Amino acid sequence: MSSITQGSYPPVLQDAEKERLVQVVKDWTVAHGLTVRPPPAIAGNDTEGILATSAPVTLFPSPFPKSCFEEAKAIQTTYNELYALISQDEEFLTEMVQEVAGGDEFIANLWNVHLRVKKEGYVQNLALGLFRSDYMVHQDDASLQIKQVEFNTIASSFGGLSTQTSLLHKHLAQHEYPLLSSSSSASYLDLPSNGSAADLAAGLRAAFDAYGSSTLGHPTCVLFLTQTGERNVFDQRHLEYALSSSSPNKVPVFRLPFSDILTHTTLASTPTRQLLYTLPSNPSLVFEVAVVYLRAGYGPGDYPFQEAWEARYQIERSNAVCCPTVLTQLAGMKKVQQVLATPEESNTNSVPSALAKFMPPTSEKTQRLLKTFTNIYPLDTSSSGLHARSLATSPTECQKYVMKPQREGGGNNFYRSAIPEQLAKIPEEHWNSFILMEIIEPPALANSILRNGKVEVGGVICELGVYGTCLWDQSSGEIKFNEEAGYLLRTKGDKSEEGGVAAGYGCMDSVTLV
Ligand code: ADP
Ligand code: MG
Repeated sequence: MSSITQGSYPPVLQDAEKERLVQVVKDWTVAHGLTVRPPPAIAGNDTEGILATSAPVTLFPSPFPKSCFEEAKAIQTTYNELYALISQDEEFLTEMVQEVAGGDEFIANLWNVHLRVKKEGYVQNLALGLFRSDYMVHQDDASLQIKQVEFNTIASSFGGLSTQTSLLHKHLAQHEYPLLSSSSSASYLDLPSNGSAADLAAGLRAAFDAYGSSTLGHPTCVLFLTQTGERNVFDQRHLEYALSSSSPNKVPVFRLPFSDILTHTTLASTPTRQLLYTLPSNPSLVFEVAVVYLRAGYGPGDYPFQEAWEARYQIERSNAVCCPTVLTQLAGMKKVQQVLATPEESNTNSVPSALAKFMPPTSEKTQRLLKTFTNIYPLDTSSSGLHARSLATSPTECQKYVMKPQREGGGNNFYRSAIPEQLAKIPEEHWNSFILMEIIEPPALANSILRNGKVEVGGVICELGVYGTCLWDQSSGEIKFNEEAGYLLRTKGDKSEEGGVAAGYGCMDSVTLV
């Protein structure tokens, strides 16, 4: 990392050089679908929905420690296995839900969907996870380590755009950086390949193949459930195109807004409850849905009415392989991450019992997972919870922490001084729906971000995500497919707390290994 801290990378750009690089990036991104639908401020009166614009992206790949990158990739299949096991442990998830559901109606409603399906009996045992484990680099004395920010089990996004970002930076390294007057620091970049789009599609493909053919004589398909007004649509399209053109035979893929599930799908009145999708543009075509891939349904905003919960119930009780099931979605609660990481009160050196429940405590794999955990506390009335309450309400101690509810999608957390203020607004009996996490402070880096045509130069913070695909049988526990599936690097200005690209805070990036 030395050359970075000394400030020689990325190279300083002359005005004319910056102009050229920006023009190249603007054109390359549009030509290769590294794009989003424009924000309303830029879209103006684009009533026909024809505009696309470059996704925010760095002008240079950010330096990332090679050992950290390799470790994050190497442990992904272990993380996949861990979350497949958690998803199968209904008793454990019951406890987790009970901890938070009192102060969290959304989690309570999700749990209720599971209970309703359980009562009549699940008809599909296969479950698919398209996961992403997110990390920041933590500097501990001399050594650099990855520390997990969160583990995503639903709608893990940017795998489509991420492959394109790696290709963009490769293109720039080949054709543009050598033209810069101070090109020396960018003359050798170690840019690993990134198969995230194809690798995630391979996970969907595995589930599609495992489903088999329709016993009702329909063609089978994969259904992407989407949010209305989604701006990050091209990210999803890259996965769709990789999947639909995958060999040996092509896969029909359809997009259906989450709000239209009950209008365009039905359940066959058979004991196996096949999910049938009628093509709105040609109602004589009926497909049997083999796999439902949720890019919606992860937050309360997708459930404005009771019908939306009925729609989720219809999907969950069907024979389609769900990516994810309700149980797998709940396995991604921050509460689960906290419990896995919190050691027993009596012995802070031991493997937390929740982790030991799923992974052999002395195994090398478990020790490697443990190293990625940072301090996370409950905010309940256990002794570590009471300790965390004293940290969270102290105006000085709270500066080192982030407080998180059981939500996904960005913009939900409370950072530093905002923690005591927020707690003051919540009845104390609901504090246990939150967790308190130490803020990871990665080494300082600089980069330039191109966002909405403007270049922002300055200090940045990088967050690495590693994708994983896992297909397992909920009843036998058999893991049928388990792969690491490429990576995402998201970068944000170092003054910003949140890092979500879709939420408008972060940008796409790729790594140059150092
Ligand atoms: P969400 O589910 O909304 O994505 P995250 O837990 O990923 O929630 O938090 C959102 C963002 O906040 C992260 O992408 C990261 O930039 C920042 N963040 C969250 N936890 C930490 C942490 N412990 N240390 C530093 N930054 C964090
Ligand atoms: Mg996140």
